[in-house]
Amino acid sequence: MVKRRRIAVLGAGIMGSATALFVARDGAEVVLYDAAAEPFTGASRWNEGKIHLGFLYAGDPSLRTARRILPGGLAFRPLVEELIGDRLEGITETEDLVLMHRESVVSLDSARTYFESLGNLIRSHPAAADYLVDVSNAPMRELAPTELEAVADPEFVTGGFTVPERSVSTRWVADRLVAALSAEPGIELRTSTRVLGVRSDDPSLRGRLVVITDSGEDGPFDHVVNALWEGRPRIDSTVGITQKDEWSYRYRLALFIRTGRPVDVPSAVVCTGPFGDIKNYNGRDFYVSWYPTGLLAVGTDLDPPPVPLPNPTERDEIIGEVFAQLGQVIPSVGEIFEHAEEVRLEGGWVYAVGSGDLGDPESTLHRRDRIGIKRTGSYFSVDTGKYSIAPWLARRVADSISRE
Ligand SMILES: Cc1cc2nc3c(=O)[nH]c(=O)nc-3n(C[C@H](O)[C@H](O)[C@H](O)COP(=O)(O)OP(=O)(O)OC[C@H]3O[C@@H](n4cnc5c(N)ncnc54)[C@H](O)[C@@H]3O)c2cc1C
Repeated sequence: MVKRRRIAVLGAGIMGSATALFVARDGAEVVLYDAAAEPFTGASRWNEGKIHLGFLYAGDPSLRTARRILPGGLAFRPLVEELIGDRLEGITETEDLVLMHRESVVSLDSARTYFESLGNLIRSHPAAADYLVDVSNAPMRELAPTELEAVADPEFVTGGFTVPERSVSTRWVADRLVAALSAEPGIELRTSTRVLGVRSDDPSLRGRLVVITDSGEDGPFDHVVNALWEGRPRIDSTVGITQKDEWSYRYRLALFIRTGRPVDVPSAVVCTGPFGDIKNYNGRDFYVSWYPTGLLAVGTDLDPPPVPLPNPTERDEIIGEVFAQLGQVIPSVGEIFEHAEEVRLEGGWVYAVGSGDLGDPESTLHRRDRIGIKRTGSYFSVDTGKYSIAPWLARRVADSISRE
């Protein structure tokens, strides 16, 4: 009888959960660890769900970031549908508006040139029809001055575009993937278990590996996949892997709102820099953020910094400030606030190779091309980089494991 391989997957966000599902369905036994009491409690449940085509990365005119993230964005829908065994719902109904802020780190002319090149790249991609909606013929259109004034205050905004980018409701996706995990017999879910390190007898990590947790040691495993996001660098360091380039952690909060009645406010992002955005998923469910107000902690050490979580009064102040700041640029956001039935202030970590302030054109955070999978022997470490590319990275990790 062929012995099934045992794989440890560390972290049950979208990266670890998608990896665990693919690897288990390929025939391995998987132990999936998370420190939280259930999967999907962090960034993968509480983000805006933009399935990136590259429009946010006009600060990297080389298109390296766009080329890096585009295949994962185009593959998101088919891979998630395979994982949940159902059609993907919760997709924003209209195209995004990209509004260029006066203090943008990218000029309107540079953005126009970048978007045109990016549009060509997207339309000519063989998988363009697989995106959340078919983008193989998707136009990118500059807003006429009257159209722009109808959505944004010209005091703050120099121009705008409609772009074919969409978002998904990350809560919808999280609930479906959690259900898929529970239904998968090949996955043992070990929640409320903090991973402290990984051990190997072989310095090149070629042999079998042991996972050290706060409740003891497990293993040996044929492979370990580190998908711990904010916890990843610490665990990598226990097997001697360090990130050469500088990195940063940011803890971000945003608003997840349900309105009592449909509200007609567009999905729009204010670019490029430390601004904000609105996602309108279905007329009643919204994501609203103002980056500087929601940014609670920044750190550049091996471990993320402590987060000064706000008390109820501070939470109300943050909510009011997000609407006040974003409302100056996009006045109609006030309608969401006016009709809000439920307002949740939630968020998570962003880990990124790169540093600096998003308001600084020289910040290396404007490029995100150094993300993805690093393998050392039997050990994989995955910098998810973006929610949108996680299922695609997970499929690639699973393929590497299955090929052996
Ligand atoms: C406000 C906000 C908006 C964003 N918007 C977008 C967007 O529109 N589009 C996009 O593509 N990306 C977006 N992102 C980024 C995106 O959320 C992340 O890239 C993605 O969710 C990371 O997924 P993950 O599975 O790697 O990490 P996570 O979902 O954070 O999962 C990691 C898991 O590891 C667990 N863990 C950590 N350390 C340990 C440990 N030592 N032991 C055990 N468990 C541990 C955590 O509990 C967590 O469950 C946004 C992020 C934020 C915060």
